[in-house]
Amino acid sequence: MKFICPKCGTKQEVVGDDTLCPMCRTTLIEVAPGYADWLMSPNEAIRRFEIVIAKHGLPQVWSSRFKHEREAWIAAVWALGLREITGSEYWIEVETKDPPDCKVRYVDSSPGYNLRGTINVEIVEWDQHRPDVMDVIIPKCANKYPRDFILVVFVRNGKPIGANAVHQAVKSLAVPFKEIWVLGLVSVAGAKYHMFAAHPGSRKVAFGLLEVLQKNISQAQFAQFDKKRSKRTEMTDRGMVHLPIP
Ligand SMILES: [Zn+2]
Repeated sequence: MKFICPKCGTKQEVVGDDTLCPMCRTTLIEVAPGYADWLMSPNEAIRRFEIVIAKHGLPQVWSSRFKHEREAWIAAVWALGLREITGSEYWIEVETKDPPDCKVRYVDSSPGYNLRGTINVEIVEWDQHRPDVMDVIIPKCANKYPRDFILVVFVRNGKPIGANAVHQAVKSLAVPFKEIWVLGLVSVAGAKYHMFAAHPGSRKVAFGLLEVLQKNISQAQFAQFDKKRSKRTEMTDRGMVHLPIP
């Protein structure tokens, strides 16, 4: 297993209990080889994309090179909105062998013990090139997906969007998704977001991103489900992990 010093960047293969940096005596943190099996808190996914934006600049981050980090950010904002509705904690798992684009994970304790809960999320971004939001929803609905997939439409062109109009337009489609959500920024001041379910129901929520991040601050940054093969599971808080940022 590889470790890295979060202070000076020294890398080390740790053997035994000695987990201090040989250079500066800071506690070393584990290096994750990639996204597979790592569950990130929404706060962590949002923090990572902010670093990508700071590093590469705004036009570049919309390219396919940063698709994983961008979609993790979209899934994270959506999951924080969902938490406002359900009260549950969610984690983001970046899926590198899509579909789906992203998995939103949670602990389902409804049977009286813990199960791995998964929401398979397909993400589509409504950019400035398409005049109407249905121009992105209709082509997605023409594809086939497993029955438990949901679609999250992220409005990134700043256009206003009427929930009722979208809900009515979606009614005339054969929808392959369990749910369709539309998520967009309402006001830059205070980073106010709005999201609503265009299919099937009328769930909706508005929230300030900074406030929901603050509410969620104590959630484990990195977690993993245990590796047992049984359906029952436990989630382990893995503390700080070094997952390289592109
Ligand atoms: Zn060090």
